[in-house]
Amino acid sequence: MGTNNRKLTAEQDIEWDTPMYKLAVTQLDNTAELMCLDPNIWERLRTPQRAHVVSFPFRRDDYSTVETVFGYRVQHVLTMGPTKGGLRYDINVDLGEVTALAIWMSWKCAIIGLPFGGAKGGVRVDPVPLSRAEKQRITRRYTSEIINVIGEDRDIMAPDLGTDEQVMAWIMDTYSQQVGHTVPGVVTGKPIELGGSQGRREATGRGVITCAEAACRQVGTAFDATRVIVQGYGNVGATAARIAHNTGAKVVGLADISGGIYNPEGLDPAKTDEWISENGTLDGFPDSETVTNEELLEQPCDILIPAAIQNQIHERNAPRLDCKMVVEGANGPTSLEADAILQDRGILVVPDILANAGGVTVSYFEWVQGLAQLLWTADEVSKRLGELMGRAFDEVWTTSQVQGVSLRTAALMLGIGRVARAKKARGVFP
Ligand code: GLU
Repeated sequence: MGTNNRKLTAEQDIEWDTPMYKLAVTQLDNTAELMCLDPNIWERLRTPQRAHVVSFPFRRDDYSTVETVFGYRVQHVLTMGPTKGGLRYDINVDLGEVTALAIWMSWKCAIIGLPFGGAKGGVRVDPVPLSRAEKQRITRRYTSEIINVIGEDRDIMAPDLGTDEQVMAWIMDTYSQQVGHTVPGVVTGKPIELGGSQGRREATGRGVITCAEAACRQVGTAFDATRVIVQGYGNVGATAARIAHNTGAKVVGLADISGGIYNPEGLDPAKTDEWISENGTLDGFPDSETVTNEELLEQPCDILIPAAIQNQIHERNAPRLDCKMVVEGANGPTSLEADAILQDRGILVVPDILANAGGVTVSYFEWVQGLAQLLWTADEVSKRLGELMGRAFDEVWTTSQVQGVSLRTAALMLGIGRVARAKKARGVFP
């Protein structure tokens, strides 16, 4: 570890020793080295300040069994204000993954300039087969297990993979019941009726397209003349596809969990939305070629938007991507090896910690509106989001030009630099 003579060994962070944690921490190590970061702060940033692991009983609707389910809430940096980050329900979630995501939240908030440190939560459960009642029970029990570490001025949750506005409403209700009064600020991404913000649902996808447009301007391409592929048809991917299409770009490929569809003449997201609402998935969508998720990533396009899950672009497919630009809607979709390959191939990568920061930005707006009893219109939210994302993109772009580094390294330098300065300003207690 560079100038740090108290070298951290693998044994020291063994609890977090998973591929995603390694990705996040290697990004930190490489950037810290490049920045000649104070080794004391560097070491502090490698592991989260707080990591909570809980296990709790979960009863399925049929009453025949009680399962033990694991839940996590990791708070990476508590220096700049409350911690902030989503909650995911996924069968593969583990402490390392949640920690990596919390670390990325810290950089994301710092890049935009939000007064939060990074956090993330997870429950290791497959959300797909859960009934509404089962999901509600899991959510309420998880919330009460971690109730002492969350709060509107402590740690604020938001949706992520497998969770949504309804899950946020249950968290808010459970928390509010326990403390004896309504606390809307404990979550963001709430239903509008409970104090959710206009534009929060679309925010991440909108921010992804704002970044794609800004990157196109920098490289001298008209966004509305591009062909776009979006992998993932959840909240982020579907919104990005709709906005790309409405802005005049040609969406040539889409994918969800059932697989992908490709049509070089263009797909209309309004039609795929309709198909999904009738059939559940993209499977069988007419007038397009059926491809696998893996194959979709390699189809020709100008802008590839991975907006599904982590580790989709790796050293095996990176040499075969047929795009000019990757704009990361998902967290951690590109492996370290793939990142290097894409850089060698001259494919511009707009990194997750910048490209998908629109979600937490509007979460911040929601939190502020809640605390100050304000109601911003959709136009106000969208204008403010555009301003903050545009400024962050410009800063990252300029840093990358001045330092001669990739956009990812530039974004990491900005995010890590801000967190490190905040840590230094507060000093060490006692
Ligand atoms: N889960 C989202 C993310 O990864 C949003 C977090 C938030 O709004 O707090 O950025």
